[in-house]
Amino acid sequence: MENRAKHLVFLGCGLLCAAASVFAVASAPSAAEGPQAGQSAPATGAPTAGAPGAAAPAASAPNFPVASGARLAGDDKQTRFILDLDRKIEFRAFPLADPYRVVVDIPQVNFQLAAGTGSAARGLVKAFRYGLVMPGGSRIVFDMTGPVKIANSYVLDAANGQPPRLVLDFEQVDRTSFVQSLAPESRPELKPAISESTTATIPAVTTAALPPVATTDARPLIVIDPGHGGIDNGTQSGDQTEKNLVLGFGLALRDRIEKSGKYRVVMTRSDDTFIPLNDRVKIARSQSAALFVSIHADALPRREGDAQGATIYTVSDKASDAEAERLAEAENKADAIAGVNLTDEPTEVADILIDLAQRETKTFSNRFARLLMDEMKTTVRMHKHPLKSAGFRVLKAPDVPSVLVEIGYVSNKGDLEHLVSENWRNKAVGSMVQAIDTFFAKRLATAGPAK
Ligand SMILES: [Zn+2]
Repeated sequence: MENRAKHLVFLGCGLLCAAASVFAVASAPSAAEGPQAGQSAPATGAPTAGAPGAAAPAASAPNFPVASGARLAGDDKQTRFILDLDRKIEFRAFPLADPYRVVVDIPQVNFQLAAGTGSAARGLVKAFRYGLVMPGGSRIVFDMTGPVKIANSYVLDAANGQPPRLVLDFEQVDRTSFVQSLAPESRPELKPAISESTTATIPAVTTAALPPVATTDARPLIVIDPGHGGIDNGTQSGDQTEKNLVLGFGLALRDRIEKSGKYRVVMTRSDDTFIPLNDRVKIARSQSAALFVSIHADALPRREGDAQGATIYTVSDKASDAEAERLAEAENKADAIAGVNLTDEPTEVADILIDLAQRETKTFSNRFARLLMDEMKTTVRMHKHPLKSAGFRVLKAPDVPSVLVEIGYVSNKGDLEHLVSENWRNKAVGSMVQAIDTFFAKRLATAGPAK
């Protein structure tokens, strides 16, 4: 992906998307009415899972506001953004630093914008993205050329043949006044800001909202983590996006694992929703997962050659090679792409017990990675160096063995043909399940007889 900046380390933040996504199914009827001004939250923490009509996913609800056009005007002193809508909506806009961005949180909107919208630079805006960040909440993220202030922002009624419009005016400012505008009291919350008025009662930690784990079920729990989602497309080739390819793969893997009956499976996402990196880790930890498998599909810029095949990554402080480092940097940028404010993350706890747990976890992660490579190489094409390591944030649960599999390169023609082929996917998924079986058979043997 082209937006690779210098910032290597993003400390995470606790967005509420994972918590909210759990409610996506349960709260579809109220979500369909739209989290508009003054309405109570669709997700209040109430156990609504058994509610009638709970089956319809929020994404298929038809009654969201529709955005039919978006454009930029102006120059590099003042730039205006206009979004055409079919009705007025609530919004909240705020700037973020490092990199300079402006985030606009709005209720869930059905974006019907022309392909390529947002990719062209104009004035103070390098590019912008839009999409779902949580059920009931959409977001627009602008990459800015430098520090800006939001000089004006408002929603206009339909008038003079024009539809209702969201209008934002950006003005160039210097870094000092920009930083002042980010003073702590004015600093936005870490969660999508529009949710403050609409979903304020979502519990702050995802654990409470996750599907209840049947405590009597002693089967190992596997977390499958399809990368990216919602506003974050991941890598792209034509109209194939990484977020869709890896979701399809993850769901197929889930189905196959569940069919075996030997394991429980939790998905970090099972639809097109953005989940912050830390929340993915939290899901694994809060469920005491026995294994975490993150699924991605890499891409190389054309000038950097034409790599191919699947690669299996484990976490390490020092990347095993330059490509692994580049990739971890790109993957760790997911939160920045989605406009998550990364400034307030508490520093990680330095604790000897965590350190010990980490060492054991690393051993298991490496063991699973090797088993996975041995199985996958019998059925799918592997990268010429198929085992690598780097500082992937999503692999940092100290107590859950974790691997990240780049199932192929969307930038490689042959790989892309595989990635969209159901036959290829079945073979790859089969190998993964085989590796999972071997891994747990060995773990149980090491831990002693179960009965
Ligand atoms: Zn990815």
